[in-house]
Amino acid sequence: MTDKYQYVSDNLAAIKSNIADAAAKCGRAPEDIRIMAVTKTVAPEIVNYAVSLGVALLGENRAQEFMSKQEAYDKSAEIHFIGGLQTNKVKYIIEPMTMIQSVDSFKLAQEINRLAGVHNKTMDILCEVNIGGEDSKSGVAPDGLIPLLEQISQLECVRVKGLMTIPPPSSSDVFLGRMEELFQNIKSRNIQGIAMETLSMGMTHDYAEAVKHGSTLVRIGTGLFGARDYSR
Ligand SMILES: *Cc1c(COP(=O)(O)O)cnc(C)c1O
Repeated sequence: MTDKYQYVSDNLAAIKSNIADAAAKCGRAPEDIRIMAVTKTVAPEIVNYAVSLGVALLGENRAQEFMSKQEAYDKSAEIHFIGGLQTNKVKYIIEPMTMIQSVDSFKLAQEINRLAGVHNKTMDILCEVNIGGEDSKSGVAPDGLIPLLEQISQLECVRVKGLMTIPPPSSSDVFLGRMEELFQNIKSRNIQGIAMETLSMGMTHDYAEAVKHGSTLVRIGTGLFGARDYSR
C-alpha cells in the first residue's frame, strides 16, 4: 500500500469523526448523513480504494470525464451527477447513474424525463438552488424554486427527492441557514409528487457547518483525495 492510499484512508477517518461530532452537537444521528466522494480529476484506482473503505456514493461533475473512467470503476458504488449538465449530455448518464443533483431548469428536467422513459426507468433528481444569487453559479433562484418544482412534478419519469446547493464560500454559514429554511418550507408545503428527503450541501470547507444546518448528504473532494490535479 502506497502513501497515497494511507492518506485517503486517514482523511476518511477524520471526515467521519468530524461528521459524528457535528451531528452529536445538534442531536442528529451520523448515519443520517451520507458521504459522497467527489471524483473529479481523481484516478479510478484511488476512487475504488475509497469505495473499498465503505464510501458507497460517488459524485461526477463532467459527463466526458465520467465516460473515460466509468469502465474502471468498482461497480458496487452508486453514482450521482452533480455538475453543470447540457441537455445533449443526458444520454451518457441516464443509465449508469441513480440521481442527477444539478437540475435547475424545466428544459433539462424534460430531457431527463424523455430519456428516462426511453430507458424504462424513473430518474431521481435534486433541484439545484443558487442560494447566494451569484451570477457565476448555476442553480434556480430561490424565488423560482416552487414554480419549477410544480412544473417538474407533472413529469412521469422524474422524481424530485430534494435540493442541492453550493453556497458562496465566503459566507457559507448564512446561506447554509437559508437553505435549511427553504428546504423545511418546501417540505411543509407537501407539494404533490415532490419529496424533500435529501438536502445535499457541504463540501470540504463547510461540511461540519452543513451538518448543523440539516444536510443529509455531504460532497467531499479535496478533503478526501487531496488537491485536484487538472493536468491529468
Ligand atoms: C468539486 C465539487 C465538490 C467537492 O468540492 P471540495 O471542496 O473539493 O470538497 C462538491 N460539489 C460539487 C458540485 C463540486 O463540483
